[in-house]
Order: sequence, then structure tokens, then C-alpha cells
Amino acid sequence: MNNNIKILLSQYDQKRTREINEAIKKREDFFDKYPEVEKLDHDISSLGIKRVQLILRANNKDEINRINKRIEELKNEKKSILKKLNLSEKDFEPVFECKKCSDTGYLSTPSGSILCPCIKQALYNLEYNDSNIYDLKNQNFSNFDLTLYSDEINTSKYNSKFSPRDNVKSIVKTCRNFINNFDDSKESNLLFCGSTGLGKTFLSSCIANELIKNGKTVLYQTAPIMLDKIIDYKFGKTDDDISKTIYSVDLLIIDDLGTETRNSLKITELFNIINSRLLNQNNKVTKTIISTNLSLQNLYDTYEERIVSRIIGNYNACYFFGDDIRMKKKMAIK
Ligand SMILES: [Zn+2]
Repeated sequence: MNNNIKILLSQYDQKRTREINEAIKKREDFFDKYPEVEKLDHDISSLGIKRVQLILRANNKDEINRINKRIEELKNEKKSILKKLNLSEKDFEPVFECKKCSDTGYLSTPSGSILCPCIKQALYNLEYNDSNIYDLKNQNFSNFDLTLYSDEINTSKYNSKFSPRDNVKSIVKTCRNFINNFDDSKESNLLFCGSTGLGKTFLSSCIANELIKNGKTVLYQTAPIMLDKIIDYKFGKTDDDISKTIYSVDLLIIDDLGTETRNSLKITELFNIINSRLLNQNNKVTKTIISTNLSLQNLYDTYEERIVSRIIGNYNACYFFGDDIRMKKKMAIK
């Protein structure tokens, strides 16, 4: 087993134990204040044990029915006391961060235990999603500030009949659609075009955060680092085979496409990545966001036709424009 997975699983175990202990403590504190509820709780479990014993002995049906009825009465009594205090049984249960795996890191399926998406994501974050350039924690739609974009309509300056703010509003809408229809294989991928400092990476981060909340896995890579890693592995320079993750992760974000040094090997890899992620192999929908400073014309000038045609045909293009330097500064302060 990957050593990082071991570390993460032991962190999960600690977290889970902490959450369970907190819940126990909460219940005990409550019982100190309301001993009558503790008594009800105690009576319910004693009757429960008695019922099991009777069932095991295949004993007296009437007696079992009588106990069932009594347990129901006590439960209702407890419920109504809690209700008066604006509480329910749920308030005393441990609160796990991941509702899918209850912070165990595993899910059971008919074919055995598998790793939960949450721990896969934690692993990708640890190994690949470099927090220095990709601030997953802090970049989300709630702190995406539209007022940073000018509301001036200036056709000659921006080469558009819309203001940068209206433009980015419509891009945010496209991003929301992308998130909401993520599992629809017919829904397009996203291409973010525009100069640096206009929020392309920020928005891709917002999308990543929303999808992670929905239990999806996200891998963020800049094109130069991603392609170098793949080539390094192929030539035995590293043991880290990132390709498997690149091909299987739910959302792949390729940032800064066009800033990599290019050769035919890398171009082939790039084509394989873009192409195979469109095929949704193993009945699994895989989506990709590509972010680039290049214009569409530049893309055609830079890459083979087969790469650009796949992007044009399967990606929803979002063009970012506006006053980049100021934007970049303000975004950096956040
Ligand atoms: Zn989980």
C-alpha cells in the first residue's frame, strides 16, 4: 500500500475516534443535566437485551410483543422530551466529515472494499495538487468577487459588446452548469482562454471545490509539469506514475496550456490525454478543464489539428477579458 495512503488512513482513524469521543462526551454531559432521559435510555437498552434473549430461546411470543410495545412507548417518551428541548437523537450522533464513508476512508461494494473518493482526493492533494499555486481551500464561489471586473462597455478596448463583468457573470453561469451536469457525458468540457490574472485558475478552483464536495475527485496540473512527469516516468527517471490518475480522475484541470516546451513525444501524450478523457472509459464520465493564455488562433498555430479539433468539438470555450494587472493584485491579496 502507498505510504501516503497509510498516513492518511491513520489520520482518518484519529479523526473518527475524536468525533466518536466527542459524541459520547456530549451524550454524557446531557445525561448529567437530564437524568430522566438517561434512565429512559438505560431502560430501552435493558429491554432490548431481554428481547434478544427471548428471541434466542424461541420463547413466548406474547412476552416479546409486550416488550416491543414497551420499548416503543419509552422511545416515544424520550423523543418527546428531546423535542421539547429542540433536540433529536441525531444531535448525539458523531458528526463525520464524509457522509459516504463516515470517515473510515472505505466504501463497501458488492465486489469488496474500495477507497472512498474523499481519501483519493486527499491523496491527490497531498501528492499533486500543489497548494502553493492552487489554493483549493480558499478559492470558492462565495469569495469570487465580481466587482473586481469592470462594468465598462468598451468595444474598442475589450473587443466585445459586453463589459468584463457581464462576461464573467456568464462564464460563472457556464461553470455552474458544468458542475450541475457533471455526470452527463454529453455536457461539454471547459476551455478557459485569456490573459493571466483574469481569474481562470481561481474559477477552475471554485469548480474543483464544488465537485469535491459532491464526492468527485480532482487533479490539478499545469501542462508543463504534467507532461514532464509523464515523460520522466516513461524514461524511468521517477517511480511516480501520474498517468493512471490523469486518465481516471473525475475532473482533470490542465492549467497554463501553451507554456510547456514542446516536442513530438509531449504532443502525443497531450493528444492521448485529451482524447481518452473524451471516451469516458469503463463507463465512467471523465471531464477536463483546459486553461490557456493562447487564443484559438494561437492554439491552431501551436498544436496539431487533431488536438485542436477535439478541443473545439468537445469543449465549451470561455473567453476572459478585462484589466489584468489590477485583478491579479487584488486576487493575490485575498
Ligand atoms: Zn469518504
